[in-house]
Amino acid sequence: MSREELWKLDCSLDSNDEVHKILIAKRGYYIYYNEPNKNTRLINIHSHICGRCNWGSGQIKAAESGRNGVWIGPFSCLTFVENFIQVNLNEFVNQVERCSCISFYLSRVKKQ
Ligand SMILES: [Zn+2]
Repeated sequence: MSREELWKLDCSLDSNDEVHKILIAKRGYYIYYNEPNKNTRLINIHSHICGRCNWGSGQIKAAESGRNGVWIGPFSCLTFVENFIQVNLNEFVNQVERCSCISFYLSRVKKQ
């Protein structure tokens, strides 16, 4: 799904629906920890409505969760995720970047 589709899905969530409450609780920022490439890959921070992230479940066609890595999150703010990376993953991380999904998400949240 595209970011726009995921954003529309996010906006349609009903806080009175028990299943929707799960996705609402999992809104936020995520990183993917890639074990085989931990020394060479940069870490991208994603929002839950990113097509790569999908609320921390990854892409639909992705390999088995945990085989090569795991999604870590949600973090409720960028400061929390950046601090987590610095404290817990700093020895592995060459570079941290924010995926373009973050500016998309922040611009949409501001419009509400
Ligand atoms: Zn992203």
